[in-house]
Amino acid sequence: MTCICAYVFAVRNEYHRKNLELLATVDPLTGVKNRRSMDEGLQMALADALRTNRSYGLVMMDLDHFKRINDEYGHSVGDEVLLDLVSLIQKRIRNTDQLYRYGGEEFVLLLSGVDPDGLELIARNLHKIIRQQLRLRCHDSKITASFGAALLRRNESAEAWLERADAALYEAKRSGRDRIVFSGAVPAQDTSSPAGSSGLAN
Ligand code: GH3
Ligand code: MG
Ligand code: MG
Repeated sequence: MTCICAYVFAVRNEYHRKNLELLATVDPLTGVKNRRSMDEGLQMALADALRTNRSYGLVMMDLDHFKRINDEYGHSVGDEVLLDLVSLIQKRIRNTDQLYRYGGEEFVLLLSGVDPDGLELIARNLHKIIRQQLRLRCHDSKITASFGAALLRRNESAEAWLERADAALYEAKRSGRDRIVFSGAVPAQDTSSPAGSSGLAN
């Protein structure tokens, strides 16, 4: 009897421990990993890149004028948009890629094994899908996002890498939103995008 009780107690303890661990790493609204998990993910990517020479990419994205949606339609409509955004992205990434909620309406995608062409393809795809398919459920108005993308450089720190993606995103916002800016080497201009979604940041 004592053994059974001890066993049940241990299982319950383990269950609660796992639940707490999950709460600490997952964003409660969208169910994607949070910023804290992202820091760990970036460190693991850096270590793996050094060990295996695998290339990694970051895509930082931020919804355009999201505050207006909240102001005009209410916070719960804004929440729906965030859920729809996450669902659109998750359908299009590989299970080796990781999506994180960086904060508010800003998300970071960590891509493993991508070269510059792969990074460009994924960023352009997400940009296109969001501008084509992300809509308010209650109203047929477009929602767009801006993107900053950066490939991990040799011996770069996680902070510097993230900062480059952030600077590229800032540049995408500054230059008009609804576009992608690639940090460093710029892939060829995408003439099919009305926003002319290519640019350069440091
Ligand atoms: P920009 O194009 O420059 O990014 O403009 P913006 O309006 O998207 O950016 P800003 O930083 O001014 O506003 C972000 C808004 O996101 C403000 C905040 O209330 C909202 N927000 C942050 N987290 C949530 C959330 O979990 N749910 C909802 N509905 N809104 C959120
Ligand atoms: Mg925004
Ligand atoms: Mg923002």
